[in-house]
Amino acid sequence: MTNSVTSAQLWDDAKRVIPRGASSGHRIGWNQVFVQARGAHLWDEEGTQYLDFLNAWGPIILGHSDVRVNEAVLRAVNTCDLTGVGPQLGEIELGQTVCELMPSAEKVAFCTSGTDATMHAAHIARAATGRRKLLKFHGSYHGWSDHVAVGGARSDLTRESPLNTPNGAGLHPAVVADVIVVEWNDAAGLRAAFDEHGSDIAAAFAEGFIHSYGCVAPAPGFLELLRELCTANGTVFVLDEVKTGFRAALGGIQSINGVVPDLTAFGKAIANGYSLAGLAGKDEFMGHLGAYTHEDVTIDGTYNASPYALAAANATLAIMREEDTIARIYALGERLRDGYRRAIADTGAEAVVTGLGSEWAVYFRSEAPTNFRDTMDVHTARYAAYQAHLLSQGVLETTSPTGDRRLNAATTEADIDRAIEAAHGAFAATTQ
Ligand code: PLP
Repeated sequence: MTNSVTSAQLWDDAKRVIPRGASSGHRIGWNQVFVQARGAHLWDEEGTQYLDFLNAWGPIILGHSDVRVNEAVLRAVNTCDLTGVGPQLGEIELGQTVCELMPSAEKVAFCTSGTDATMHAAHIARAATGRRKLLKFHGSYHGWSDHVAVGGARSDLTRESPLNTPNGAGLHPAVVADVIVVEWNDAAGLRAAFDEHGSDIAAAFAEGFIHSYGCVAPAPGFLELLRELCTANGTVFVLDEVKTGFRAALGGIQSINGVVPDLTAFGKAIANGYSLAGLAGKDEFMGHLGAYTHEDVTIDGTYNASPYALAAANATLAIMREEDTIARIYALGERLRDGYRRAIADTGAEAVVTGLGSEWAVYFRSEAPTNFRDTMDVHTARYAAYQAHLLSQGVLETTSPTGDRRLNAATTEADIDRAIEAAHGAFAATTQ
């Protein structure tokens, strides 16, 4: 915090050298530039404190700048930094922990982002099955590789819009054309897709609990049906636990619902903000990963399994196990959702709150959505009024009217109660 420049000046400077001023789409469209982060809070250039309910879109689970994690990272850096030869320090320990925690994990490989992990999953599935097509659900985000960046663009969503539109420009049309997109919770649609294309589908990608457009649970039996259809058709079931892994439960959502996938992509919360992600799964599929031969699926990355990120992940998971972080963030999440629901009832706002554990969503419509298309009628102006009011009270929630939000374990009950009070005003602001 220098107070010598303003956030606005920093944005102007950024735009001179970085397209739109930030290197990731979700970071664009804010007025603030945050310059300090600790525990549950962020501070902008002007010195204003915010209670952070973004948490970097998922990774920050213990709290910002956790000293215990940072010290573990420093110890690793000062012992042996990146070597690029053999397994890295910390990789074996983390591999053992993931295999112990995650029901589907017989083997695990580490990379740097969720996008890498789902891309590797697509390559493995194609290599293992000799098929080209992939299946995914409407609105679900699995990263930015051409394989899966389909059927998730809110901007062109209408009652009749096609399911499999590319999420952005520049994607390869042939790759996009090989993606079959099904509406979430549409059991008949899912069966029909497998009836028509089953023998051509290499992999089916799914979130175990939707966080791509808020918080939408699977209908009872829906994931079980997907598992059954994948098994019957020889399709690789890829569960995307990039948001749910190590946050919904230490063993991921699969350890809650008991539906075991063939491959699991994970990232975000595992390393409390350091860039680590990975792919875990049955040896039968993970065994395809290797070096440069025509038979193997190449996994390569200069910064894969970096010792800094591994040290952060090993420290984060050890602390989470020791302190039962999951139980703490679930209790805080419940307290917040209860309070927000009371605020909705008190103010008469037309809104619903959904969520799981430390994550929640606020939809300005009369009912909770059950799929992506349902979210097309959320009241965007009311959401903007709600979000702006919260921001004015120092509570940072997403600018997206269908976004998910989350808390970290450094948040206190008093923080939650303050947020509930602010939310009361925010919901009231939408009824005027
Ligand atoms: N899968 C899901 C469910 C995600 O939410 C995200 C990112 O938000 C990704 C994959 C991509 O992960 P990354 O941003 O680390 O590439």
